[in-house]
Amino acid sequence: MTLASSPSESGQAPLGHKKARALKPGSRRPAKDLCSECGLCDTYYVHYVKEACAFINQQIAELETQAHGRSRNLEVEDDIYFGVHQEMMAARKTEPIEGAQWTGIVSSIAIAMLTSGKVEGVVCVQNTPEDRFQPQPVIATTPEEILAARVNKPTLSPNLSVLEQIEQSGMKRLLVIGVGCQIQALRAVQDKLGLEKLYVLGTPCVDNVTRAGLQKFLDTTSRSPDTVVYYEFMQDFRVHFKHEDGSTETVPFFGLKTDQLKDVFAPSCMTCFDYVNSLADLVVGYMGAPFGWQWLVVRNETGRELLEMVRDQIETQPVMSQGERRAAVQNSIPAYDKGVTIPMWAAKLMGLVIERVGPKGLEYARFSIDSHFTRNYLYVKRHYPEKLAEHVPAYAQKIVEQYQLPD
Ligand code: FAD
Ligand code: SF4
Repeated sequence: MTLASSPSESGQAPLGHKKARALKPGSRRPAKDLCSECGLCDTYYVHYVKEACAFINQQIAELETQAHGRSRNLEVEDDIYFGVHQEMMAARKTEPIEGAQWTGIVSSIAIAMLTSGKVEGVVCVQNTPEDRFQPQPVIATTPEEILAARVNKPTLSPNLSVLEQIEQSGMKRLLVIGVGCQIQALRAVQDKLGLEKLYVLGTPCVDNVTRAGLQKFLDTTSRSPDTVVYYEFMQDFRVHFKHEDGSTETVPFFGLKTDQLKDVFAPSCMTCFDYVNSLADLVVGYMGAPFGWQWLVVRNETGRELLEMVRDQIETQPVMSQGERRAAVQNSIPAYDKGVTIPMWAAKLMGLVIERVGPKGLEYARFSIDSHFTRNYLYVKRHYPEKLAEHVPAYAQKIVEQYQLPD
């Protein structure tokens, strides 16, 4: 489907906003190959897709002003990298939730918001009964349903596909958990949902894949792809896989079969510059924190309210930053570009050295942001040159300009 033939209006909703027919499952989306399956087009809010879609209309600065009262200050490095924020910290639950991605801060906040009555429902993503990695978005109304959504579904997930149900349910106070592209579309239509209060709890997100892409990643990287229940690219420069029997497998980043994995990531994620979920009220990730800790970015007062819900369940420490990332990033650009794969023994050795002397805390987060933004900038330049100027936000442009890129 082309943009010119985007869905027709079919009526007026009770709230006075425009409706269109949801697109059929599996049909081509307006963003075409760049669609991240955020779910908006599965609902009558598809009417707004041309303005709302993160891959058709990049408008992070405008939406930051709407959500946080200001956009990033491009003179302040922490703003450029991590977005608008009041505070950052490292945190972990004193009693972690079994089976959560990290210590379960996201699930704990959601449960506290629901049981305190601050919200009537929580948009989150469970998995289908048949497949632990196949996403199934839900509006959870019990703590059990929130807990059933814990742990990452490391696949594109149509979280916004439940938006119609919100309006139909009559809910007025809602918490949405999601990644950057979902949250950009949500922010663009949030005043159409008939809500009195929306809370947005985000996670960073990068290198996501389709379900088929995930299988290829697992098959080429893990010793036992069928038993993986969880994985994460960790701050120690290794991918950690957890298996059904409780065992952990680690593979150094530098040992990944880059030549085979080059095209495994979804095109949407290869063109994304919202790694840090700029539009969420509170972001919970890990990459700016020491190993084993989570990284929290409080963007505004609503985010602070979310964090306060679990203050008595977490321990915190100030963020730290150590090391110097730039040479490592510059060296990785041509290596990734050429799809260089090095022998496992050399990869393990490199991993050990870089773990000891490499970037830590916020510098590790900058390392990861720089590596992904330079790679994605090149991807957009080569595959969508006509989109380059509009699609790359000013802050990402500043980050990329620090490096020498091949043509
Ligand atoms: P839990 O309590 O286990 O809750 C996880 C929540 O994530 C659930 O509520 C669920 O609804 C939601 N969720 C799961 N899968 C998806 C999905 N596909 N789309 C939207 N929501 C989902 N953090 C970093 O610092 N750096 C990264 O590079 C990074 N990459 C990520 C990539 C993906 C695809 C995802 C989903 C997350 C990523 N994160 C990253 C965030 C990090 O892995 C943890 O999700 C976060 O720290 C929360 O951990 P937790 O234990 O508090 O979450
Ligand atoms: Fe629609 Fe979302 Fe895909 Fe954009 S990314 S085309 S809004 S489903």
